[in-house]
Amino acid sequence: MAFTLPALPYAANALEPHIDARTMEIHHGKHHNAYVTNLNNALAGKPEESQSIEEICKNISKFPMPVRNNGGGHYNHSLFWTIMAPNAGGAPKGSLADAINSAFGTFDEFKTKFNTAATGRFGSGWAWLIKDSSGKLAITSTPNQDNPLMDVAEVKGTPILGLDVWEHAYYLNYQNRRPDYCTAWWNVVNWNEVAKRFA
Ligand code: MN
Repeated sequence: MAFTLPALPYAANALEPHIDARTMEIHHGKHHNAYVTNLNNALAGKPEESQSIEEICKNISKFPMPVRNNGGGHYNHSLFWTIMAPNAGGAPKGSLADAINSAFGTFDEFKTKFNTAATGRFGSGWAWLIKDSSGKLAITSTPNQDNPLMDVAEVKGTPILGLDVWEHAYYLNYQNRRPDYCTAWWNVVNWNEVAKRFA
């Protein structure tokens, strides 16, 4: 069973002005699509091709590098599209808000720490909010297309929010201004979806 590119859950221009339509079109239609194609090619004919992308990530050290890069790319982007939405942003509510306050002090302190992880990631990678095995929230970041599900990750957990800081995610609109992209991105975070992942 081959992996497929999930449709964007909104129009390519829906996240403007924070993320522009052309960036979304190329990011989803070219970059994510290439990860799916290359992942399918890397797994073709192997018994592992019937595994879920989560299972593959959890055992990624057993796979060759093309599966790590493209499988991570497929998992990470599939998550990324869903944790954004038009008319979103604001602050989380309920038990997720409580867990954020408990782990980081306040929502603003959480955002500052998350942005530090995102802007401080040298080169390409991701910043994450994860739920660890004890149910506690933590912020981490991974290089390239790695993610915290992977057995090779320094800090492991279940991703409930992720920010892509590869230049392909922002360069057309923000050029070298990664911090501006990271700041604007909070306006499109879909806290309802993040809360579902947390629960
Ligand atoms: Mn990307």
